[in-house]
Amino acid sequence: MLNKKLNAKLLWMQFEDVLAPRLGLTVKERAVYSYLLRHSLVVGKLRLQFAVMSLARTLGLAIGAARQAVRRLDELGTLRVLKRCKTGHLVEMRLPEKIRAARPGKNGASLVVGVVGVRATGAAGEPPAATLETTDFLKTWALRKTIHDRERGACFYCLRRTPAHVHGLDHVVPRVRLGRNSYRNLVSCCLECNSRKGDRPARDFLRTLYRLGRLTAAELDGRLRALKDLDAGKLRPVGFEGSK
Ligand SMILES: [Zn+2]
Repeated sequence: MLNKKLNAKLLWMQFEDVLAPRLGLTVKERAVYSYLLRHSLVVGKLRLQFAVMSLARTLGLAIGAARQAVRRLDELGTLRVLKRCKTGHLVEMRLPEKIRAARPGKNGASLVVGVVGVRATGAAGEPPAATLETTDFLKTWALRKTIHDRERGACFYCLRRTPAHVHGLDHVVPRVRLGRNSYRNLVSCCLECNSRKGDRPARDFLRTLYRLGRLTAAELDGRLRALKDLDAGKLRPVGFEGSK
């Protein structure tokens, strides 16, 4: 439970006026987020257990679309999927003022007062400059771009060229298995690989691509080496400006 009284009116205004537009949420993502909000923060709970199937049915969405929306909301940091199993998802919602992408920016509305009546972290309260190793690379668009730039427009897994509007970031070690948002665990990849890999280990997925003829033997070797380099911290994000 939240230990402070929540201001539902403010929460709603933050969602509609700042969060949704700034994160560029689609209509489906908005619907899923509203539904989850209604059953969590609005009733004073941070965590929520739900089945994607019933969520999809309630909102009139295809199950795949509902699942995809939850995944993207997780990627954007609006919530965190803690557990995913046959009986359902367990998520922890993040208060709007804690969502980095929705914090006051150069231009745009600001989330000055938090929904629980606490002042959101402003300029004076910004956390100290993050170090490369502690930075959450899903936090902002600029940080996500440093990972995409590292892969230079090619999918990390299948090596296909991936235009900016059809690529995504994938957790090499899935977040459900405690994978972190570190530059050592995030890669830029095409949407097809992103959805096909799912929660499988990256090595297995690369071998599948090889069996399907999508990678040559040499490319598979190269990709397995790249995985090791990634884990060892040798593949640095491009243009990262935090302290090293
Ligand atoms: Zn790919």
